Amino acid sequence: ALKAPSSGPAPTPTLLSKEFSLADRVGLVSGGNRGLGLEMAYALIEAGARAVYCIDLPKTPSEDWQKVHAYAARLHGKGGEGRLEYISADVTDQKAIWKIGETIGDREGRMDVCVAAAGILKQDIDCLEYPADTFQEVISVNVNGVLYTAQAAGRQMRRFGNGGSIILVGSMSGSITNQGHSWVSYNTSKSAVLQMARSMACELGKEDIRVNSLSPGYIYTKLTGAFVDKQPGLIDKWISQNPQGRIGRPDELRGVVTWLASDASTYCTGSECVVSLILFIKC
Ligand code: NDP
Repeated sequence: ALKAPSSGPAPTPTLLSKEFSLADRVGLVSGGNRGLGLEMAYALIEAGARAVYCIDLPKTPSEDWQKVHAYAARLHGKGGEGRLEYISADVTDQKAIWKIGETIGDREGRMDVCVAAAGILKQDIDCLEYPADTFQEVISVNVNGVLYTAQAAGRQMRRFGNGGSIILVGSMSGSITNQGHSWVSYNTSKSAVLQMARSMACELGKEDIRVNSLSPGYIYTKLTGAFVDKQPGLIDKWISQNPQGRIGRPDELRGVVTWLASDASTYCTGSECVVSLILFIKC
């Protein structure tokens, strides 16, 4: 028979909604201007975060970002809560990204959540002909940029001593091969993200800083749209590789990111959350 844990105080019952709440929390999201990053920033705001800072390349935020910004203002009122802030920066610039983390820490007095979602995918290039600079560019954004973003937030989590949750956006492409695609740089970079999350989780666990990776399957965004819009029939192939027989919507990441960011997942670190599986293709 199952036995209750013998040590420690009896847990205080809490409403699940309280565990999922991000009230008073501060977040940093890279790639938060559009696509999956923006959906995840939106989720953090909806879960009650006090402020979410989005880092992205363009000098001015997208229309979609501005809609979420307006929504946040309505949701939380004008009392300074639920702010969505936009910062134009390149995640491959370690000094700049660290500085952004410090400025947020100085301003907010805390850092609780980080979602490193900025990433790039190049059109198919033969692996034996892959140019060095293109390979390096993908690695710089998808690996170095993810590390620098996690560092920027993690350094502030350490500074304030409240722990935190870091979510590194990888991909199912980090653990499967995509037959018919020549994505050697992307797949390599996403594989690195999985191990980065596990390594950081081990190092930071004692400080109650949790690090998990989030591996989306196929979700329609600008990144994937660039492929399916150009290759007739590709979407059907992707659909056939999904257990539910469809590709995902960006908003379908909101729940999982809220769970990972919040106290609803306090014993979850070093894990890979797959949303959703791509069936392994034999090459
Ligand atoms: P998008 O291309 O829609 O969004 C990526 C965002 O990252 C863009 O806003 C982009 O800015 C930003 N970005 C790119 N490079 C940099 C940089 N150097 N510095 C700062 N920001 C940068 O992609 P998705 O939303 O689809 O993807 C988000 C993440 O999810 C990526 O890491 C991707 O690999 C991953 N993913 C996506 C899947 C999918 O099916 N969509 C599947 C698996 C993983 P800009 O607007 O200038 O391009």
